[in-house]
Amino acid sequence: MSADVLVQLGTKGAETVVKVTGDALDKAIKDKGPGQVIAFPETNYYLPLTNALLKLEVKTLGDCLEVLKQAESLNNNQPTSDGFKIDCLGGVLNKGIATIICEEILAGLKYLNKEHPQKDSAGFLSDTLLRSLGIQLVDGRISGIAVILGPAKDEDSAVQLIRDFQSKSIVSILVGNAGGRSFKKQLENKNVELGLEDYIVPLGEDYLSAIYAVNWAVRAPLMYGGLKSGQWQEILKYTQQKVPAFVVLLSHVDEIIVATGLGVLAMGFPIITDLEVPQLGKIDTTLYEALVTEKDYKKIVSKCIEVRGLKVRVTDIPIPVPYAAAFEGERVRKEQLQVEFGGKSSLSFEYLTAKNINEVEDGKIELIGPDIDQLEKGSKSLPLAIIAEVYGRKMQKDFEPILERQIHRFINYAMGLMHVGQREMNWIRVSKDAFDRGFRLKHIGVILHAMLHQEYSAIVDKVQVRLYTRRPDVERLLPLAKKTFDERDARISGMTDESVDTFYSCLLCQSFAPNHVCIVTPERLGLCGAYSWLDAKASFEITPTGPNQPIQKGNVLDKRLGQWDNVNDFVKQKSNKTLEKVSMYSLMDSPQSSCGCFECIVAIIPEANGVMVVHRDYPGMTPCGMSFTTLAGSVGGGVQTPGFLGVGKLYILSKKFISAEGGLKRLVWIPKELKGLLGDRLKKRAQELGCPDLIDKICDETIATTSEELLKFLKQVKHPALEMEAML
Ligand code: SF4
Repeated sequence: MSADVLVQLGTKGAETVVKVTGDALDKAIKDKGPGQVIAFPETNYYLPLTNALLKLEVKTLGDCLEVLKQAESLNNNQPTSDGFKIDCLGGVLNKGIATIICEEILAGLKYLNKEHPQKDSAGFLSDTLLRSLGIQLVDGRISGIAVILGPAKDEDSAVQLIRDFQSKSIVSILVGNAGGRSFKKQLENKNVELGLEDYIVPLGEDYLSAIYAVNWAVRAPLMYGGLKSGQWQEILKYTQQKVPAFVVLLSHVDEIIVATGLGVLAMGFPIITDLEVPQLGKIDTTLYEALVTEKDYKKIVSKCIEVRGLKVRVTDIPIPVPYAAAFEGERVRKEQLQVEFGGKSSLSFEYLTAKNINEVEDGKIELIGPDIDQLEKGSKSLPLAIIAEVYGRKMQKDFEPILERQIHRFINYAMGLMHVGQREMNWIRVSKDAFDRGFRLKHIGVILHAMLHQEYSAIVDKVQVRLYTRRPDVERLLPLAKKTFDERDARISGMTDESVDTFYSCLLCQSFAPNHVCIVTPERLGLCGAYSWLDAKASFEITPTGPNQPIQKGNVLDKRLGQWDNVNDFVKQKSNKTLEKVSMYSLMDSPQSSCGCFECIVAIIPEANGVMVVHRDYPGMTPCGMSFTTLAGSVGGGVQTPGFLGVGKLYILSKKFISAEGGLKRLVWIPKELKGLLGDRLKKRAQELGCPDLIDKICDETIATTSEELLKFLKQVKHPALEMEAML
């Protein structure tokens, strides 16, 4: 097959898709009328690809006709009415874009007819899902996204390929089938667990479902990059440079797949295939090679990494099971269980403490008590105390809880191990498979030793681990650990913004939102909820040139708003001069910008003279007339939006929570689930404010989802916000 054949096939495929779309649209309009609503669930971006590239807001079948017209222009290598046209490979990529735009309409029709999502497949990926993955992409837990089209040559090869992707922390998105064989089925037949937590997401077993990967990727520049729909040149540059996706085409190709592939290449995503096809070197829209064949399945993953230019964090730990971030969310169910510790099954805790130089022998791992291959017959649990002792010249007491918290992640990275909770509320499970591969308790020590060195070498010089599995030992040691837990809690909860002269920046999200700057203070954590002031401080000690930089606060410019001259200067410089100043305590006056991966949104409700807070997991309507998804569309991209603020959950409990506007007393509505999550701590804050009954006066969705209902309730309970100074 020559490159000319590829162009011919693509041309034919594009023509077919445009024609099929026209016919399908005509039929749908005849059946349902032009005013029939067409939409994907839980998105703020209409048909996202069309919205991003063509600036069209498709709401009805009638609106699709305009999209089709634009696609026809592109298919004839003519610019759209907005001037969209790519001059590359003799214009054939325009046919590719025409194809994927039409495929988005076809997928919309599938949703309309309830044919998508297919059974046990994700289908369209929501805005919320994209936001929740943002932080994992920026911190390297996800290093890439492989869109796998078609089945592997056999089931064993499918498993091998997926394990290779998982071990490199690459998320696999599964699409399509050839003659009834699909990658998804191949994995299911081999009992591989599927799901985002396992880094494997089946979108659908038809090839059309590939569009859901495309229209997911195209939302990143709108959500994080501060770009607006219609800025197609910048959007395509963003997908090329910042969305680490690529296509793995296996076993089958036809003219429609070729046409779709051309659209994918236009977005900067290269294609790696096991098929005999003409090779395409670097083109204007890709960073490196565009189309590459690799028939040896053992080499496919490294070829993908090379061709997409991925930065993969490889973790090589000497244990008998695979080890990578991709296994973090894996569950060990009852039927797979070999042995467990903690939870409801036994007494268990984990504890990390700093010691003097002579008290720690690096690499020493001791098991005191029986191992998991010495369980009494019929028993499936053991008591467990994990005690990690570290020494480091730069180690500080404040870092102990931060390192201890990593035990959860480090253990979860091992395939076949599950870790839940922390301290004396942990719960660890080891699967039969991990046990059969040779996993024993000392390997927990091996993991902690290796990972603490690998990730925290700047503050940790030596690590030793002791594991106790006899109940009297665990009972004896637990009170000592608990005493430290209490001391730590007292120390951290006593910290205030006034008690330090240094805040920390977080610029991690700038890889997606180039103008966004988080300022992290003792009383305000990063908006993703993952970085507290202590975390940022530790991170700076570990990587002095990294994303968390100390900022000496300098002179107070406005105490009420929370503005300092050095903080403002820093924000101005690091936001590429797009932000002049930032108020740490205000919602209304120069609030902090938002990148896109916020846990919650605070939004003003003017009628109530108060604010509502909604979290990412709440799918319903809120009294400000918008769902989380819709609201989120106006908050991200590294811009300041007075009246709207992305925040971490725990900031709601802070004394500095929008204190410039009166703080927690302004809170009039919050989803029931979030209220429950904040629980007693929210009650405690209300008591501190002298309003012990405030919690009962804060409305939730079981009482009101419109501003009228909300206002009625607030008046009934005499909510304090109604009596406060006007917000506007
Ligand atoms: S603290 Fe802010 S910048 Fe840092 S990862 Fe979280 S959201 Fe992104």
